[in-house]
Amino acid sequence: IRNIAVLTSGGDAPGMNACIRAVVRTGIYHGKNMFGVMQGYQGLINNHIIPMNARSVSNILHLGGTILKTARCLEFKEDEGMEKAFKNLKEKEIDGLIVIGGDGTFTGAQRFGKKYGVNVMGIPGTIDNDLYGSDFTLGYDTAVNTIIEAIDKIRDTADSHDRLFFIEVMGRDSGCIALRTAVASGAEAVLLPEKETSLKDLIIKLKEGVNTKKSSSIVIVSEGNKYGGAWDIAKSVKRKFNHYDTKVTILGHLQRGGSPSGFDRILGSRLGFAAVNEMLKGATMQMVGLRGNEIKLTSLDVALHMHSYKLEDDLLEMTKVLSI
Ligand code: ADP
Repeated sequence: IRNIAVLTSGGDAPGMNACIRAVVRTGIYHGKNMFGVMQGYQGLINNHIIPMNARSVSNILHLGGTILKTARCLEFKEDEGMEKAFKNLKEKEIDGLIVIGGDGTFTGAQRFGKKYGVNVMGIPGTIDNDLYGSDFTLGYDTAVNTIIEAIDKIRDTADSHDRLFFIEVMGRDSGCIALRTAVASGAEAVLLPEKETSLKDLIIKLKEGVNTKKSSSIVIVSEGNKYGGAWDIAKSVKRKFNHYDTKVTILGHLQRGGSPSGFDRILGSRLGFAAVNEMLKGATMQMVGLRGNEIKLTSLDVALHMHSYKLEDDLLEMTKVLSI
């Protein structure tokens, strides 16, 4: 392998820049020519592929988002799009491709690698933490910290006015973000896509809070839970329980931004460094992940088919025990 390209695809996540920096510099350290692809797979198709040197990635370690931009690219799902992408890589003699993204990004990389024999490595970058093969994905820790900071502020006002707040956090299919933020912010209850909490149980919990003289209550609602968004749930609850003044906050896209936490900077650096090193040792069609504080490879096939991650049992239990 002489020439390696890196791209970010799917949703952006804090720590992607730290990872791009690590990929580029590790490659250069080993004497490889490095390239950045703009806008994910769209840039591969449009031939928006730029040479990168050590200085191209100066001063980005601490920035949120991704300097390479990201985009949804439906064209890459078609044979014709993939063909164009391959032609552009071939022209530049790029024989290694490192993709940073989620499930969709890995599916694209896997199909592309299989079809054209390009060496591909995947790095898990999504705030949702919903990928198999890595205890943590890039951006998750920063998002959790951002949300905790927001909830702390909401708690101040909730407490001063005896209010019940429903706070909706990201996680279409995964309750990882909701569970962690619930524990870290001392939420009274949390609604997760993976777990059944009936509205009846939720109301019992809130009533207990009133009986034990709680002056405010916060319910974290994961956007993918089965009762709908925070507005719907607030409305349903209010019909049967209106002890508090009820408010709703949807945190939205602020959860995706911001300077990456120390953890995500280090994770991005480790995963980028490992992806290049492993590729140079001959690995391909693998995802690099962190498991038990060690870098581990998982084949993209397995990562994509397992479709599972784990919510920590102790955290689940704690949402009941510590919120009494
Ligand atoms: P994420 O990587 O965060 O899951 P997406 O699901 O939006 O985000 O996928 C990112 C990109 O990966 C898509 O815009 C598309 O270009 C590419 N992709 C997704 N699925 C496929 C597929 N089946 N074949 C080829 N490319 C795909």
